[in-house]
Amino acid sequence: MTDVLIVGGGIVGCAAALRLADAGLDVAVVDRGEPGREASWAAGGILAPEVEAHGPGAFIELMRAGAARWRRFAAELRERADIDCGYRDDGTLQLAFDDDEAATLAARARWQREAGLQVETLAASDVAALEPALAPPSLALRYAGGHQIDPRAAVRALVVACVRAGVTFVRAEARRVRHDGGRVLGVDGDAGPLDAAHVVVAAGAWSSLVDGVPLPRGAVTPVRGQMIELRAPAPPVRHVVFGAGGYLVPRADGRVLVGSTEERVGFVKDVTAAGLAALCARAARLAPSLAALPVADHWSGLRPASADALPYLGGTPVAGLWIASGHFRNGVLLAPLSGEIVAALVTGGTVPVDVTALSPSRA
Ligand SMILES: Cc1cc2nc3c(=O)[nH]c(=O)nc-3n(C[C@H](O)[C@H](O)[C@H](O)COP(=O)(O)OP(=O)(O)OC[C@H]3O[C@@H](n4cnc5c(N)ncnc54)[C@H](O)[C@@H]3O)c2cc1C
Repeated sequence: MTDVLIVGGGIVGCAAALRLADAGLDVAVVDRGEPGREASWAAGGILAPEVEAHGPGAFIELMRAGAARWRRFAAELRERADIDCGYRDDGTLQLAFDDDEAATLAARARWQREAGLQVETLAASDVAALEPALAPPSLALRYAGGHQIDPRAAVRALVVACVRAGVTFVRAEARRVRHDGGRVLGVDGDAGPLDAAHVVVAAGAWSSLVDGVPLPRGAVTPVRGQMIELRAPAPPVRHVVFGAGGYLVPRADGRVLVGSTEERVGFVKDVTAAGLAALCARAARLAPSLAALPVADHWSGLRPASADALPYLGGTPVAGLWIASGHFRNGVLLAPLSGEIVAALVTGGTVPVDVTALSPSRA
C-alpha cells in the first residue's frame, strides 16, 4: 500500500512526485516507458509566459507564477541531482515581418504594459545590434526576463532527485484506476494491482484514456509538434526567437531547435516531409544563415491539450483521485508550480495559487 501512486512519469508527474516525497509521503510513479520520453522529451523548454498569453487573465497569471519558479527549481535540481538543466535567461524576442504582424505585436505590448509586464518595443536597427543573424523585422518585442531550460536534462535531474528522495519508479502500463464507493483504491495494469491511498493521473495526452478516470474521453487530446535540431559551430543567436509562425531555441553548445508544428492527427508521432519543410522555411525566414546548417536531429511529441489551454489540476468526484494533465504547450514551464499544487492538494496544505479555473470538473 503506497500513499500516492502517480500514473505518468513525464515532467509533470515527476515534479509532483518530488514535492509529495518532500512532504514525507511514500510515492511511486508508474510509467509504461522510460520516464520523460514523451512530450517532455520533445519540448523546447521555452519559459515565455508573455509570448504564450494572448490577453490578460487567469492564463497569464498562472504562467507568470509558473515561470517565476524555474530559476530556483533549476538550482535545486543541480544541488539534489548533480545535473545542470541548462537554465538560461538571455531573454525572448518576438518578431513581426509585415504590417499586420506589427499591429498585432503593438497591441500585445499595450495590454502587457497595462498588466504590468516588462516588454520593450524594438525597431529593426535595435534587433540588428542585438542579434545580427536575424532577418530585419518591421517591429519586435523583447522580454528581457524570458528564459529557457533543456527539458531532457530537467527530467533526468528530476528522476535522480526523486529516487534520492525515496520515490519508486514502476515500469508498467496503467490500465484502470480502481475505486469503490467514491474512494480510490489503486491502479491495475501490467504490474498487477497496486494499492494506494491517493492516485494522481499525470499521463499526458493519454490521461483521459485510462479506464476509471472520471474525465470525458476527449478531455485531453494529442496535438503533435514536430521539431528539428540544427547544429552550428557557435550559437547564432542568444535570445529565444519567435516569428514567422515558429521559434528558435539556441542552446549554449551551438544546437538550435526549430519549432514547431501544431497538428491534430491523433496519437501519431511521425515526422513528416511537410513538417520538416515548414520548419526549415521558418528557420530561414527568421535567420537566413540557418539554411546552410546541418540538420542534426528531428523528432515529434504529443502535447496534452485541454479545450481551453489551461491544465487540469485538481480533485475529482472520487476521493483521493487527482488529475494533473492538459498542460498543452506549457507543461515544462508549469511543471514546478504544478508539482507544488498537486502536493498541496493531496496533503491538504495551502495551494500556492488560485486553482478554481483549473478544476477537472470543467472538462
Ligand atoms: C514539440 C513540442 C514542443 C514543446 N515546447 C514546450 C516549451 O518550449 N515549453 C513548455 O513549457 N512546454 C512545451 N511543450 C509542451 C510540454 O512538452 C508538455 O506540456 C509537457 O511535457 C507535458 O508533460 P506531461 O508530464 O503531462 O506529459 P508527458 O511528458 O507526455 O508524460 C506523460 C507520461 O505518461 C506515460 N503514460 C501515459 N499513459 C500511461 C499509462 N496508461 N500507463 C503508464 N504510463 C502512461 C507516458 O509514457 C509518459 O511518460 C512542447 C511540446 C511539444 C510536443
